[in-house]
Amino acid sequence: MTALILDGKALAHKTETELATRVAAIKASSGVTPILATILVGDDPASATYVKMKGNACTRIGMDSLKVELPKDTTTTQLLAKIRELNANPAVHGILLQHPVPHQIDERSCFDEIALNKDVDGVTCLGFGRMAMGEAAYGCATPKGIMRLLEAFDIPLAGKHAVVVGRSPILGKPMALMLLNANATVTICHSKTVGLEDHIRRADIVVGAVGKPEFIRAEWIKDGAVVVDAGYHPGGVGDIELGPLMNRAAAITPVPGGVGPMTINTLIYQTVDAGEKSLQTS
Ligand code: NAP
Repeated sequence: MTALILDGKALAHKTETELATRVAAIKASSGVTPILATILVGDDPASATYVKMKGNACTRIGMDSLKVELPKDTTTTQLLAKIRELNANPAVHGILLQHPVPHQIDERSCFDEIALNKDVDGVTCLGFGRMAMGEAAYGCATPKGIMRLLEAFDIPLAGKHAVVVGRSPILGKPMALMLLNANATVTICHSKTVGLEDHIRRADIVVGAVGKPEFIRAEWIKDGAVVVDAGYHPGGVGDIELGPLMNRAAAITPVPGGVGPMTINTLIYQTVDAGEKSLQTS
């Protein structure tokens, strides 16, 4: 069996073409250009690169980005004030607070200050709760990107046993709830899980969201499974040992080019949606 490659890069590229058309329609009908505000606190090079990539994606589809850069000694109070300012700015349609923020900042409070209608990265507790209950809310960008990728390739989820390894607020937890809402039977594993390998061996769908290079071994994964790898590490490997699975899995997200492009794509996809909705309510 040769694994189907769930090519996130190609899907993101195709979707950008559609998004550019929608942005052009917004501009033509209202004269408004949708804007994503990006907030970068501190000088972490990886975070700076991610923010730049998100700004570039906005440019490619004709949107604008408003880049907010704050010093690394920014306080929680200062960041909250900036987020409130962006919430109140009608020209801003989406707000991205780049994770992680410096340790002195209460990241959860700051995420939760983002207005629900501008939470296009899907990081607020309110958005998470609404998503979990099946109510309208923007999905957390990485797991939502994975769901969009699985849907685009018609990967069946209902009745399947999905094992999500990782339970972070921005990835593992929302991933598990999204799969549950799609009628998968979900097991969530984490650092205190006993018998991790046994759980993974029973999975029809495995999501690796651990943050450790090739931590999930190919031999733990059964033939014919769908393998989703959210990780990306130096050397171009993810959280799952993908090589030996290319001839055994039913489908695989490549690293790079699988989940990563879909994260940014989902962020801009949801920002375009927020831009359209703001016109309907104005
Ligand atoms: P994180 O916050 O560090 O969470 C890692 C999770 O893995 C935690 O829930 C942790 O469990 C669990 N874990 C750690 N060691 C484990 C072990 N030995 N056995 C089982 N579970 C274990 O990481 P994250 O932000 O969710 O990111 C996860 C991965 O996704 C990383 O590789 C990251 O680079 C990648 N990522 C990619 C994108 C993208 O756009 N492509 C976006 C975000 C993240 P505990 O909760 O018990 O500590």
